[in-house]
Amino acid sequence: MIDSSSGSLALTAPLSGWVAPLSEVPDAVFSGKMMGDGIAIDPTDGNVVAPCDGKIVHLHHAHHAVTMKSLFGAEILIHVGLETVALQGRGFTMHVIEGQQVKAGELLVSFDLDLIGHEAKSLITPIIITNGEEFAIGQRFDNRAIAAGQPLLTLHRLAQQTSLADPVPQHEIIRKVIVPLAHGIHARPAARLADLAKSHDAELFLSWGQRRANAKSPVALMSLGLVKGTEVTLSARGRDADAVVAAVAALIESGMGEKEAEHHAPPAPTPEPAKAVWIAPGVAAGVRAAPGLALGVAVRLKVAEIAVIEAGQGPAYESRQLEEALGAVRALLTAASKGRGPQAAIMAAHLAFLDDPELAETANSAVTAGKSAAFAWRRAIEQQIAVLRGLSDPRFVERIADLTDIERQVLVALGCAPAEEATPLPDQAVLLADDLLPSQLVGLDTAKLAGIATVRGGPTSHVAILAASMNIPALVACGPVLEEIAAGVRLLIDADQGRLVVDPTAELIAATEAKIAERAERRAAAMVGAHKTCHTKDGVRVEIAANLGSVADAEKAVAAGAEGCGLLRTEFLFLERQSPPDEAEQAEVYGAIARVLDGRPLVIRTLDIGGDKPAAYLPIPEEENPALGLRGVRISLWKPDLFEIQLRAILKSVPAAQCRIMLPMIASLSEFREAKALMERVKAELKIEEKIEFGIMVETPAAAITADILAAEADFLSVGTNDLSQYTLAMDRGNASVAAQIDALHPAVLRLIEKAAEGGARHGRWTGVCGGLASDLAAVPILIGLGVRELSATANQVADIKALVSGMTLEDCQALAQRALVATSPAEVRALAAKGDK
Ligand code: PEP
Ligand code: MG
Repeated sequence: MIDSSSGSLALTAPLSGWVAPLSEVPDAVFSGKMMGDGIAIDPTDGNVVAPCDGKIVHLHHAHHAVTMKSLFGAEILIHVGLETVALQGRGFTMHVIEGQQVKAGELLVSFDLDLIGHEAKSLITPIIITNGEEFAIGQRFDNRAIAAGQPLLTLHRLAQQTSLADPVPQHEIIRKVIVPLAHGIHARPAARLADLAKSHDAELFLSWGQRRANAKSPVALMSLGLVKGTEVTLSARGRDADAVVAAVAALIESGMGEKEAEHHAPPAPTPEPAKAVWIAPGVAAGVRAAPGLALGVAVRLKVAEIAVIEAGQGPAYESRQLEEALGAVRALLTAASKGRGPQAAIMAAHLAFLDDPELAETANSAVTAGKSAAFAWRRAIEQQIAVLRGLSDPRFVERIADLTDIERQVLVALGCAPAEEATPLPDQAVLLADDLLPSQLVGLDTAKLAGIATVRGGPTSHVAILAASMNIPALVACGPVLEEIAAGVRLLIDADQGRLVVDPTAELIAATEAKIAERAERRAAAMVGAHKTCHTKDGVRVEIAANLGSVADAEKAVAAGAEGCGLLRTEFLFLERQSPPDEAEQAEVYGAIARVLDGRPLVIRTLDIGGDKPAAYLPIPEEENPALGLRGVRISLWKPDLFEIQLRAILKSVPAAQCRIMLPMIASLSEFREAKALMERVKAELKIEEKIEFGIMVETPAAAITADILAAEADFLSVGTNDLSQYTLAMDRGNASVAAQIDALHPAVLRLIEKAAEGGARHGRWTGVCGGLASDLAAVPILIGLGVRELSATANQVADIKALVSGMTLEDCQALAQRALVATSPAEVRALAAKGDK
């Protein structure tokens, strides 16, 4: 079996059946060689035998996969069928145990061919060399029938070794790191990591679970699907293995500038294109990808299919063609990736895709097999797209448009289609497309582009980022209804409402034009006073702060004129990961936000998870009604260790003069007292003597009604109108069926806010609002009239709110508030507010 004169190892067939190349396995993880090179057998009987002498190193608990290590050091995975893990051992019988030495031909596993053939996706069995960095496959006996025990393939050792009898592998450097990036290893971090890996000679692999990726391949790195909190193993061999492992680990651990999520909320899932229905005559729904209102005429962007010829004109010729085409596209992307801003960053990511060694390898092997350069390139891209499609995280799936984009650019450079001319646009064009590619958008005359609507796509796609950076309102995932819209017809896009209106009436056009003009004027005027301290016309101080979820949010808020932060949603640090952040990680982020706020007050809400914000690592028992279960402050009191770590991180990193700590979801004074006692203990341990304001959120009707009792001890109250509305109106804030009725301007909610402000005032405490109502311009005068003196809104509303407040007197606000309290519905309150506006 080992030919010691040539250093090669022969493997025999572990099954009888038909031998196929790995590329024919209908599973991209195998066909894309994500787990290594190999071969496959479509079995005709149910016995798996050892393909060589060796040791069983791993048996999967579902009994469908066995890995053995040959005496020679090669690791061979035999994976019976596809998606057979789901059978959880049904139909399989193991005949060996882990650690057992076996002889070639010895029975390892037997299985029920009929049962598995019937219930699994496929019986085809990949046989993979999982340590391909040490062994290369030589001869393959594929495309033929085979009996178990007949020659299947030969392996050659790659690494230098003093003696074949000495199986000690070349020294391998291994290190584990936890991914701290809020959005995991997505396209841009993958491109940076691959770049770094490429600057070293050593081969570096990242592995997680059963997946393994060559670190020099950004697509392979992305395909690992690494999310925040995942522990990934780095393993390298070669001359500078130490250095590459240290450098890549340091880059990952640095967070690559993405430790903090850009938003507090988890990303919106990539929506499936909606069904081909109009939600009302001439009105389609979509998902907001870039905000704003747009009016214009429909222009259809068609992407012509590019046909490619499969057969090549000889490997040498095709390989030269491919190289030249890649060179041409590389030059264009290199020029476009210079500079700053989202467009340059996206082009840099495309450049990394273009130079992905896995794409090159797949394309080159197809060229070697006689295919044309164009066919080979398309095949390479398609394989990677199949892998991305199989990942559950929508952010990875959204990268498919990027791959499609470079596929087209290379095919054009190969001459398969004429260079794509930018679609000529009329003024005020509203672009309709199936799914827009970044290069198409960049190539358009964007000065003429009023809006964009696509059939597919997701809100975190690169096109969405580009549209937002160009201030072009955009909707994605509108569904096939867009195909029914004729070019040239007038369209209205209200991205904020997720609506597209075909052929709007003259009244609607006039109203929208007026709104667009008014918004522009109001914004320009508001920006003039955005950085002033806010008072009403008659001198009442109202603090206008911003809600934050990251350092980037803090930067935006300060630039927008926010006077501080009225709600830092710290849970952004705790969600979408597998373990909670430690004290150092939290302190680093809180400290960084405090520094950006530069002395402005920072209200830090303690951990608010549970309910609609689940954290997988918390052993919250199954709850029938999580909104009424363990959430908010209840979690902190249930897990005081977690709470204490957070308090220490806050108190250590945020200067006392700036620091205000706020407890979420308080229902009674005992909770406040228990939490405060803990805070006082931590403060004493840290020897902090200054006063730290310690307040509560009013999110439960109980807290609003007993605000006078709570405010006797709490330093401030801040109303969370999102939850207060849900608990007052008994309407789940996440339930689309009641979304239209859950309006915080309901008089019942307003009466509770009044009660909270009264309770606060009785003890000289300030009452603020940090829920969504604070960002609603219609609500602002009413809230001030009810006694609210701090509003914490989204950063982009700060200037408008300040402008509004400075134009009103307290008396006007109080009169309006009194009318609102006796209104019969939220609609009536809104009508009153609109009248008050006149
Ligand atoms: C609220 O409930 O109004 C609030 C501000 O908290 P969150 O939206 O984070 O639950
Ligand atoms: Mg809340």
